[in-house]
Amino acid sequence: MEMENRVCANFGIRYPIIQAGMIWCSGWRLAAAVSNAGGLGIIGAGSMYPEVLREHVRKCKAATDKPFAVNVPMLYPDLEAHMRTIMDEGVPIAFTSAGNPGQWTSTLKASGVKVAHVVSSVKFALKAEAAGVDAVVAEGFEAGGHNGREETTTMVLVPMVRDAIQLPVIAAGGIADGRSMLAAMALGADAVQIGSRFVCSEESSAHPAFKQRVASAKEGDTVLTLKEITPVRLIKNAFYAQVAAAYGAHAPVEQLREILGRGRAKKGMFEGDLEEGELEIGQVSGRIGTILPAGQIVAEIMHEYEERRALLASTARVV
Ligand code: NDP
Ligand code: NDP
Repeated sequence: MEMENRVCANFGIRYPIIQAGMIWCSGWRLAAAVSNAGGLGIIGAGSMYPEVLREHVRKCKAATDKPFAVNVPMLYPDLEAHMRTIMDEGVPIAFTSAGNPGQWTSTLKASGVKVAHVVSSVKFALKAEAAGVDAVVAEGFEAGGHNGREETTTMVLVPMVRDAIQLPVIAAGGIADGRSMLAAMALGADAVQIGSRFVCSEESSAHPAFKQRVASAKEGDTVLTLKEITPVRLIKNAFYAQVAAAYGAHAPVEQLREILGRGRAKKGMFEGDLEEGELEIGQVSGRIGTILPAGQIVAEIMHEYEERRALLASTARVV
């Protein structure tokens, strides 16, 4: 008899596939498309002014009757406004990241919002469990955008977190298809969170030039940098060359901040400036080559997952 999946049961979704909340890339269109396809769509609120988030939440509610979530990085300058929107608009699930889960979890839960928190280490996973979250996202070094300082890969992090906590674990970083999803489940995950693959979807709000750049990315095109500010994985371009030169010259942190400036992520991912913008994406971009409807991406991942699972079950016997 098959057991019910804990994440599917708790979040009320059909498949254990969660589309990552991504600044400038995951607005209401992408979130609604993924939720309508049976996964969990997430609106990435880190790049949205409070009134923009409210608009996206309302449009998402109109576009799907399935559960969806909002991701809020705790670094966001007007955190309280975003949290109010989530509670006032009756968003069923919040994913918090890049900060302390002790800050908002109990308030959100008291108003009926389920909470998942994103971590990059066992230490933070234990903290999230102590804060009372419903699930933990264990995100490895392969992941795009903001990232952990310890460089722990998904392969190492997921089983460590699995062994350290009782809560459902959602694996993230380096997952883009049924094969990598199956591997993550084998490591002990209850579900997967997938970002880069959904940047290359028709419904993603990323600029078309950025989607194309991600689809053409090869192995070795991304790098994790700017650890002294906030570690971030991005595609190497003219902006990164400037950062690399500054590191080469042992530039102080203030100079790195100056080079980064403000709004680089918007410039690259939303406005499509591929040279001067900050192009945040995961290592797995090297394995993505097409831009597809989000619903098709979900269906193809599940199809390959089931196919590979059956194949492994029938052949993987060590004699
Ligand atoms: P709509 O289809 O209602 O409108 C799209 C809006 O976005 C238009 O005002 C358009 O401006 C603007 N826009 C589109 N592409 C770009 C771009 N490359 N650079 C600058 N502006 C752009 O949008 P939605 O319902 O999808 O979204 C509603 C709001 O949310 C909009 O204000 C949108 O900008 C914002 N948004 C924010 C995201 C984020 O991560 N912060 C992600 C997605 C949307 P114009 O017609 O003048 O070109
Ligand atoms: P910057 O400081 O360079 O720029 C802020 C950007 O966010 C601007 O483009 C601005 O849009 C937009 N913005 C939306 N709401 C606000 C607000 N209330 N106050 C000021 N700016 C706002 O930041 P980044 O682009 O590097 O990052 C934006 C946010 O996303 C941050 O909260 C950051 O922590 C988060 N982030 C999270 C990641 C993750 O969790 N993996 C990855 C990367 C970033 P405009 O230009 O239209 O003014």
